[in-house]
This record gives sequence, C-alpha cells and structure tokens, in this order.
Amino acid sequence: MKCKMDEHAGLCNCTYSSCERRLKCCDCLHYHRKKGQLPACFFNAEFEITYDRSIANFIKMRKGQCLPA
Ligand code: SF4
Repeated sequence: MKCKMDEHAGLCNCTYSSCERRLKCCDCLHYHRKKGQLPACFFNAEFEITYDRSIANFIKMRKGQCLPA
C-alpha cells in the first residue's frame, strides 16, 4: 500500500508544525492512542490550539452537541 502523505496535506489541521508525525496519520494516531489521547483532527480550531489532546478535552468541546449519526 502506497503512503498517502501528499493527500493528507489538506486534511491535517494540526498547528504543531514541527512534529515529526505530521501528515503521517498512522504514526500520529498510534502515538496519541497510546497516550490515551486523540489526534488534532478530532478538535476544532479553538480546542486544537491548546495542544490538549485528551479525551476529556474532546468531551468538553463536544458537550451539548449531538454526535453525527
Ligand atoms: S496531532 Fe499530535 S502527533 Fe499528530 S501531527 Fe499533531 S502533534 Fe504530531
């Protein structure tokens, strides 16, 4: 399977631009999952910029919002 890094450029909203895992979604996801976190792309701009990737922060962001079906 060919790496799709080039295709990810328009999808990644992570503002931590010096991260070595940037655009490497598989590495990014595993890194945060091992830490009990979610990657930047789960967060809107207001929450992403805090660099708090915790699930608690995700729930805080989504509080009062319905999840898509
Ligand atoms: S979400 Fe985390 S691992 Fe992924 S590019 Fe941003 S800082 Fe790096």
